Amino acid sequence: MVRIDLKEKNVGEAIDLGGILAKQKAAFNARPNPPWSERKANLQKLGKAIKDHSKEFQKAISEDFGNRAYEETTIAELLIIQGGISHALKHTKHWMRTRRAPTAMQYKPASNHIVPQPLGVIGIISPWNYPLQLAIMPLIGALGAGNRAMIKPSEYTPRLSDLLKRVLGTIFTEEEVYVATGGVKVAQAFSALPFDHLLFTGSTSVGRIVASAAAKNLTPCTLELGGKSPTIIDESANMALAVPRIANGKLLNAGQTCVAPDYVLMPEKNIDAFSDAIIKQAETFYPKVAGNKDYTSIIADSHYARLQTLLEDAENKGARIRVAGDDDKQQLAKERRVPLTVVTNTSPDMKIMQEEIFGPLLPVVASETLEDSMSYIQSKERPLALYWFGEDKAKKAKVLNETISGGVSINDCAWHVIQEDIPFGGVGPSGMGAYHGEHGFKSFSHMKGVYQQSRFSQGKALFPPYGPKTHKMLNLMKKIV
Ligand code: NAD
Repeated sequence: MVRIDLKEKNVGEAIDLGGILAKQKAAFNARPNPPWSERKANLQKLGKAIKDHSKEFQKAISEDFGNRAYEETTIAELLIIQGGISHALKHTKHWMRTRRAPTAMQYKPASNHIVPQPLGVIGIISPWNYPLQLAIMPLIGALGAGNRAMIKPSEYTPRLSDLLKRVLGTIFTEEEVYVATGGVKVAQAFSALPFDHLLFTGSTSVGRIVASAAAKNLTPCTLELGGKSPTIIDESANMALAVPRIANGKLLNAGQTCVAPDYVLMPEKNIDAFSDAIIKQAETFYPKVAGNKDYTSIIADSHYARLQTLLEDAENKGARIRVAGDDDKQQLAKERRVPLTVVTNTSPDMKIMQEEIFGPLLPVVASETLEDSMSYIQSKERPLALYWFGEDKAKKAKVLNETISGGVSINDCAWHVIQEDIPFGGVGPSGMGAYHGEHGFKSFSHMKGVYQQSRFSQGKALFPPYGPKTHKMLNLMKKIV
């Protein structure tokens, strides 16, 4: 039994996670394939509860961060969730259907089918940066696919985690959906549970730990991880469009976005003009950063200090630093806010060029040709996202065909993530597996292959004892396959 006595912050009672999982599994076994009407009702009440409590969610998230605009929470969490639910309500019934699959000539007149089946109980571990969206989007997939779920939200957003637990507790029983709040000890115990599938969203380093914990139970994992997502600005790019889009992609949630453009690659001769333009753009978006209700604070002192260390290290190694605006530094530190900071004259030994930045610092790296940019990207770990700005069709095709990343947006940042009709996931160190839309449905389903034999099977010609009849049949089959 996985039982934790918690003296950790944010958890007041001992919780028996193993016991809850056992109850969920028993409830699932008693009802292993809920009909569409039940799944639809679950998705509808989830959508309604999120809508009914949207103001509270906005408030809790803003307080957890120190500040985050309610509008930003609407854009980056609430609307995406409602979009995911509407899409699931529209399509899940169709995804649930048994599909006919082709049957090779030599096996006819038998027939093949694929039967999607709920897996059972899905574990969901979510991070703090979009704490509602990244807990609920996997839940939409899990419930649509007919499963039960247990969620472990981040300890960095305790108000949101408590609220999530309370709100989901009003619409679901513990046997349907359970939220386990708490810190790393809870997370460790949680990831050691024998779920039927585990979806983890978080850092690559913790992803490795979670994957090894899951491996002990042979629990299949979807890992939604991070990394350094590059942006290539081609000479053919329309800079008037590119600059505000990159600035917005970088400054949304103050850069604390898994798919934020981490760094830019562009020819050296264009770097100064680009730096001027993006600094000016940031100052237009946020004329003041300190005290600005539109600009998000850095989640915690430790992350604020981490960003300062990245900058100091870069400066000590010869980087040029330009900060948008002229805010009072002490006030910024008090509010844990970091304005857009453009870092040029970078070198590979700088930490800012090695670690995921996860904040509003933007290194701009000189790269003269597309080939240079591509070999730079290929020499690094495969990123979660890649952005290419330009109009040259041949170069666009080359980038798409010859670089590997979780996903791509062309001429913008991050929009591919919220498309329900394409898979969202990383590759290698940025993740494994995918979800959203039908891809989530499939990740949380067992797509069972079923072979229906006919009364007139040729198979009996292959029964022992082997002899001339067998050889005749084998010769025939060799000609067909
Ligand atoms: P994190 O890895 O520190 O934490 C994520 C979750 O893991 C939290 O709920 C935490 O409690 C839990 N956890 C921590 N230690 C654990 C352990 N030893 N065993 C099991 N669970 C443990 O990540 P974070 O700081 O919350 O989020 C930022 C990271 O997440 C960034 O790297 C970012 O790129 C990534 N991210 C990825 C996506 C995506 O969809 N691919 C989305 C958002 C964030």
